[in-house]
Amino acid sequence: MKTEQGLELKSRAVIRDIEPGGYAECSHCNQSIKFQAKCRELKQVICNVYRKGTWIRVDHYHGECYSLAGDPHGKAEATQSLRAKFTRAANSRAKQITRDEQLAKELTAV
Ligand SMILES: [Zn+2]
Repeated sequence: MKTEQGLELKSRAVIRDIEPGGYAECSHCNQSIKFQAKCRELKQVICNVYRKGTWIRVDHYHGECYSLAGDPHGKAEATQSLRAKFTRAANSRAKQITRDEQLAKELTAV
């Protein structure tokens, strides 16, 4: 099954911070995924699971358990790195604009 954009709907995984007050059970070790004030770096992996293009469920994993399970829903994407990618793109676009302005100034100065 394809979406209107022509993208195939398939399972994907994202890495998220574990948030206080949230509750989920790890699909790998069956332990609860709980926020711990002492371990703020703890991550969880949230997977949207699709079968034959149809969403069936959301799976939660401890960050470590997801790797231990062998990345069952594909490589988990860190949303933060995606954001960094957008920032980089925006920065390089800004540089391009500055260059264009400089070029325009040089051209009009002649
Ligand atoms: Zn686990």
